[in-house]
Amino acid sequence: MSIAYLGLGTNIEPRVDHLREALRALEQQVGILLKCSSFIETKPWGFISKHNFLNGVACFDTNLQPYDLLEVTEKIEFSMGRTHKSHEGRYEDRTIDIDILIYENIKIESPRLTIPHPRLCQRLFVAIPLAEIAPDLILTPPGMTAKQLSIELKKQKDMEEAPIFNPHNKAEYPPMHTAEHILNGTMNKIYGCGRAFSSHIERTKSKLDYHLAEALTEQDIHDIEKRVNDIIQADLNVWTETVSKTDVTGRFDLTRLPENSSENVRIVHVGDYDECLCVGQHVKSTSEIGHFRISSTRWNNGIQRIVFRLDN
Ligand SMILES: [Zn+2]
Repeated sequence: MSIAYLGLGTNIEPRVDHLREALRALEQQVGILLKCSSFIETKPWGFISKHNFLNGVACFDTNLQPYDLLEVTEKIEFSMGRTHKSHEGRYEDRTIDIDILIYENIKIESPRLTIPHPRLCQRLFVAIPLAEIAPDLILTPPGMTAKQLSIELKKQKDMEEAPIFNPHNKAEYPPMHTAEHILNGTMNKIYGCGRAFSSHIERTKSKLDYHLAEALTEQDIHDIEKRVNDIIQADLNVWTETVSKTDVTGRFDLTRLPENSSENVRIVHVGDYDECLCVGQHVKSTSEIGHFRISSTRWNNGIQRIVFRLDN
């Protein structure tokens, strides 16, 4: 027997009846229903409709292999009046939508089936009900529990709804992300090299690349570490302001903003030490960051890489 988590959704009334009917059919054809979440109301995603969705997540113990399970769920969708997932690539109103979210810890990537389901890490209407029935279930990706994921997505959603669109591509760990700002400010102050042209920020360690004519020496590395840690220990206030693009022309590099970015940008200040355009998440004061440590460096052909970690 295998554990499978299925996501269910409908936006055609009577919605509760449709979800219940689908659950009954799944119990008959898939296996034992172990748990089912509450149904939550969500706005349509990926298309425009007047009809909100009702979504839920159910956990089954099943004998079916993933592709057989897919076939059964498609058959149920079809029998309940849904012909195909999208019409000419568009999503539409639907009587019932059943997605295989997770099947044990199996990973599948094929044109027909992707497990874990790609929407799992992106959509609150999946994460919230999943967190309700399996809060401690660890999801890989993104390497966090269902509960943590739902909290992260909620934060991102709040951010997306704010009128700010500067470049932003990661769900960050605020202490690490704030350390990135301080290191960028420090590098630019010491070497005038500008901020990192490439960055890879993760919870445990991060990499930043700078244009530097010569490799950093041991002493340089020590000085950078000290300067960053001095700022952290000074417990500077990290604060943001929202200003119009025209007001900051010449003060920041606006060429990296996406073309459709809004008129307003958000500036993140680390005390009066550093300022940078950013929509990410940051600590409130620098002492929350912990101890900054450069774990390795590499210089090659004018590119200086710095790998750093935060110790508590
Ligand atoms: Zn930032």
